[in-house]
Amino acid sequence: MTDMTRRQFFKLTGATLVGSSLGLLGFAPGPALAEVRQFKLLRATEIRNTCPYCSVACGILMYSLGDRAKNAEANIIHIEGDPDHPVNRGTLCPKGAGLLDMVHSKSRLTHPEYRAPGSDKWQRISWDDALDRISRLLKADRDANFVAKNAEGQTVNRWITTGMLAASGATNEVGYLTHKVMRPMGLLVFDNQARV
Ligand code: SF4
Repeated sequence: MTDMTRRQFFKLTGATLVGSSLGLLGFAPGPALAEVRQFKLLRATEIRNTCPYCSVACGILMYSLGDRAKNAEANIIHIEGDPDHPVNRGTLCPKGAGLLDMVHSKSRLTHPEYRAPGSDKWQRISWDDALDRISRLLKADRDANFVAKNAEGQTVNRWITTGMLAASGATNEVGYLTHKVMRPMGLLVFDNQARV
């Protein structure tokens, strides 16, 4: 309040007075705000997604304008809680409510990067290069460290020198497929931020 200028003070109190007077006259701001929201999102494309931040995995609705196929850069313009989602019923915590800023943050990593041993620099690589490299390293480590039998001669078929960390925002189906791929290779070290 101490930083507020005289002009800002009158602007704020004036707006509050108009708002409360309209309320007294029966013009509740709720429906008007809902209409503004509807108007803003009228031409937007709506998709469902999951907040990526924490293991609560709240459902979100994302709205975008534009279409690359039509020569207009696609852009996410609004994100809000999904009222139909059983976890959060439309609510979001402050972190989730700020998701739009994260999406548009200039420092958000949107491509794979590689840092060579001993180097202090990251270099951009393609997704194909990244996946090839991960596959090669996985195979080399498994070939070198897979344990078929334990000291007692019992079959164990385990590989414990590599681990996998999965994201809690993944769907049941993605979780199922991830286990289907990793478990048959003997991988036991598997964790998830949601501990599921
Ligand atoms: S909105 Fe908040 S509570 Fe929900 S998943 Fe995102 S960070 Fe977690």
